[in-house]
Amino acid sequence: MNPNIAQKLARPAILNLKPYSSAREEYTGNEGIFLDANESPFNKPWNRYPDPFQQRLRQRIAEMKGVEKDNIILGNGSDETIDMLFRTFCEPGKDKVLSISPSYGMYKVSAGINGVDYETVLLNDDFSLPVERILEKASENTKLLFLCSPNNPTGNRFKDEDMRTLMQEFQGLVVVDEAYVDFSSGGSWVNSLEEFPNLVVLQTLSKSWGLAAIRLGMAFASSEIISLLMKVKPPYNVNTLTQEKALEALSNNSRLENRIKLIINEREILMKALSVISVVKKVFPSDANFFLIKVDNPDGIYKYLIERGIIVRNRSKEPLCEGCLRISMGTPKQNQYLLEQLNAYPLGIQGFKPDEHWKPIADWLVTPPRKAVKKRKTKETDITVEIDLDGNAKTDISTGLGFYDHMLEQIARHSGCDLTVQVKGDLHIDEHHTLEDTAIALGEAFAEALGNKIGIERYGFALPMDDCAAMVLLDFGGRPELVWDAKFKREKVGELPTEMFEHIFKSFAVGARCNLYIKARGKNEHHKIEAIFKALARAIRMAIKREPGADFLPSTKGLL
Ligand SMILES: *Cc1c(COP(=O)(O)O)cnc(C)c1O
Repeated sequence: MNPNIAQKLARPAILNLKPYSSAREEYTGNEGIFLDANESPFNKPWNRYPDPFQQRLRQRIAEMKGVEKDNIILGNGSDETIDMLFRTFCEPGKDKVLSISPSYGMYKVSAGINGVDYETVLLNDDFSLPVERILEKASENTKLLFLCSPNNPTGNRFKDEDMRTLMQEFQGLVVVDEAYVDFSSGGSWVNSLEEFPNLVVLQTLSKSWGLAAIRLGMAFASSEIISLLMKVKPPYNVNTLTQEKALEALSNNSRLENRIKLIINEREILMKALSVISVVKKVFPSDANFFLIKVDNPDGIYKYLIERGIIVRNRSKEPLCEGCLRISMGTPKQNQYLLEQLNAYPLGIQGFKPDEHWKPIADWLVTPPRKAVKKRKTKETDITVEIDLDGNAKTDISTGLGFYDHMLEQIARHSGCDLTVQVKGDLHIDEHHTLEDTAIALGEAFAEALGNKIGIERYGFALPMDDCAAMVLLDFGGRPELVWDAKFKREKVGELPTEMFEHIFKSFAVGARCNLYIKARGKNEHHKIEAIFKALARAIRMAIKREPGADFLPSTKGLL
């Protein structure tokens, strides 16, 4: 393919255009007394025009995407980059663009505004690309081919080989709109710019990044294409607030991956749940943060949902989308509410209580399951610990030491976790190994069950117990530490040597990688150690608590 395809396709007026040269372009230094742009010298920093070429932001995006800065142009949302493509490549009244149907509505609007013929090719019945029909429909004046993948509103990602064929065969620019690519199982076409000189990839911060409000769209293409688009863009099209907010978001993106995972997870759960609801006739597969469902009465259900405060998109009038509503993923709570309401259709039960009526689905929503099984076998001990942090305080505990069993039962009972502990230890020699190894395995089981720790409370606090006061402060922050402030006068409680108590909690802290601060006062030794175990359990209960929909790590470092 001709590498000068950009120039071949561009409007003559644009090729010959001498672009506006702003004050900020003519002098690019940061230092000095700026008397060149008729700005106000007051009201810093907002008195100054933004960087017209968004150099820092484009540099950052280039690093992130593995392309060069001159492969990128930014716009006031993708909508502006779409408009720039029309204005650069399509001669009004003469040129045409081609797209698929159904797809994103903005291509057609932009074509209309620019006086450019907009033609579409109907997708295949399974929403796949009709490659042959697209190529047949393309003519000499067809400058742009818009392919939205994953496609809006159908939700599917197009097959790589079909995309490839079109990039090779189509004689104009292939514009791949990847607004939803972060939710898809396949990669981005951004890495194929060198292979296809006629490729333009559109991305945006509006969807996966959760930054629709700041309006930042990105177009990636060969430097030849980008330099033509640069001539056309308004000089200061991305304002300073947007540039700064985007830089901040891109430099601190630790939450992004978790949010994407959570949304994909929600998508899978919601699709599964909806597929068993009688009102839903079909759930369409999705590579995006939304999907289509087919129902018998789309207008009625659309209205019914609005009456219950839920707004979905009615796409039932779109080609191939008869009966279809498009649903974007919300928080787990919001999705659950949608499920309840759809399940209740057509009667719409008032005062519907999720916990009573929707237990099976509510259970799915607590995902992924926070369970762990730890096996630990040494010469001295053979231990199995099973834990379910979201259990019902069920226990099955046998360490061979009655009093230790009793203490471990307190942990399950007062933290709400299901706990199984089975130990075969060398008790004929000493209790030491059994006590220590069990505490380590228990700690490790907690650490594993906590998994990525997203959404947990992280800290736990507990205070008075019985006639003794036991204070346990807990932090599942990743560092093992024990501060122990408790004294025992008797040599043993039950068959447990009191000198081992500190060691048990130290071992637990190491296994669970948590900070423990334990302080206990009181006369009755039995009550005192029991109070410590109960207080620990209460602290654990607080710390492992997770709000549904909480999608962040309780840490400013982004790591726990
Ligand atoms: C949402 C969406 C966009 C994003 O547009 P912005 O102007 O960047 O907010 C682009 N393309 C498609 C297909 C979309 O659905």
